[in-house]
Order: sequence, then C-alpha cells, then structure tokens
Amino acid sequence: MRALSAGDVLRLWDECRDTSPEARALVLAAAADDGTVSVPPAERPIGRVTALLLRLRNALAGPRMAATVGCPGCHGTVEFQATTEALLALEDKIVDAPPPLLHGGYAVDWRCPSYEDLRTMAERPEADDPVRGALLLLERCLLNVRHEESAVADGAVALPAELREALSEAMASADPLADLLVDLRCPDCEHAFTADFDMAAFVWAEVESRGRRLLMEVDALARAYGWSETDVLALSEPRREHYVRIVTGESP
Ligand SMILES: [Zn+2]
Repeated sequence: MRALSAGDVLRLWDECRDTSPEARALVLAAAADDGTVSVPPAERPIGRVTALLLRLRNALAGPRMAATVGCPGCHGTVEFQATTEALLALEDKIVDAPPPLLHGGYAVDWRCPSYEDLRTMAERPEADDPVRGALLLLERCLLNVRHEESAVADGAVALPAELREALSEAMASADPLADLLVDLRCPDCEHAFTADFDMAAFVWAEVESRGRRLLMEVDALARAYGWSETDVLALSEPRREHYVRIVTGESP
C-alpha cells in the first residue's frame, strides 16, 4: 500500500479513538484494504485482518517492530523484535474455506473465527468466562455437523471434547495469523513464557501517538503563522518539523 499522509493518520486517529478494540482494528485494517476481495474484512478469518494491520504498520513506520511485554515471572519488561515481512509470510497459510473435519464418525463443516465473531462475543457477558467463551466461539463457527450421516443440531456443547479440541487445532492451523504467539525468555529472571502479540493494539498505539503529535504541530503552527489545519497537514513531514523547531526556538 502507499505511504500514509499526515491527513490520513489524523483521520484514522479521529475515527478510532472512541471505539471498541474490535471496531478499531477493523477501521485500521480497512485503511490498508485494496478492495479486491468482495468479503468485508470483518467476515474474513481474523488473520486476514492482522495481515492488513501489518501492511498498515509497514506503510506507517516500515517493517521493523519493537515491542515490550511484562514478564510474568519478575514483572519486569521484556523486549522483542519482529518484522512485518516475516509475519506477512504466514498469510499464504491462511485457509479461507477449510475442508470438513472428519473425526470419530462426525463430519463437521466449519469456518475460521472472524472479527464479526469477536465483536459479537464482546457484547455477550457470558463470553468473559474463558471456557464458556471458547465454546460460544466454536458454536458460531460450526456450519453443519453430521454424525453417522444424521444431522446434529445440539451445537458445540453436544460434541465430544476430543472433537472440540480437534476443531480448535484445525482452526489455529488454518489461520496462523489469528494469534501471534511469541516465545520469549526474560533476560533478568530467565523465565520462559509465550506472549500473545496484539497487532491491532500495537498499530493503534502508534497511530495514537502520531495523531497527538500532529495535533500539537498544527496547534503550534496555526498560532504562529495563522495557517489552517489543512495547510499544516499539506506540508511534508521534514518541513512541518522544521517549522515547529523554528516556532519552539529549537532551531535558529
Ligand atoms: Zn522476568
């Protein structure tokens, strides 16, 4: 995708700041969507949205990402690095229309979870319980269940635990970008743990900090020169920053 203009960043900041995490991820992803797929991002496998977020991050700040997570052992901060390119390589492994899962006399047609599912789940308080939440999500993703050729209509809860586990595994392998799990070792206490990297939160933190900085720059230049927001945002980044340094006395 093309590089984002200052106006694009500020528009995204404005659209995203008061929304739920799920709605925010979709607004950010839409900014990177080229419109060639007819299925809306909210209905695609979650990893397709993650891939759009990776493209947006690339356009915003390049491929190298450095993030920090809290160590569950010593509560210190552990840094890790990733590149958008390495993660985007996993996009080819996403299966949009997975084959039926055959297991112990069952034949299950299913699909990968989507952001639409996450949005619906966020509105259901009973989904806060991890076990109940996982079952509700599985339920939404079952399209058709047959056992020994007869239809099973009792939903996910009626399925054997082994089959539910096999379905969860099939979903994870059909969408490797749905959960970005990173294996880490804390340099201070040596504790080894797996962190779930939240790409949407990571990109939003960057858009938010850039949006705030742009507002400060517009404010400073509007006060100093009487320029409008549109005038300031139309300046190239180096020119805008240079004017700001002049106005704040940091540059002669
Ligand atoms: Zn530690």
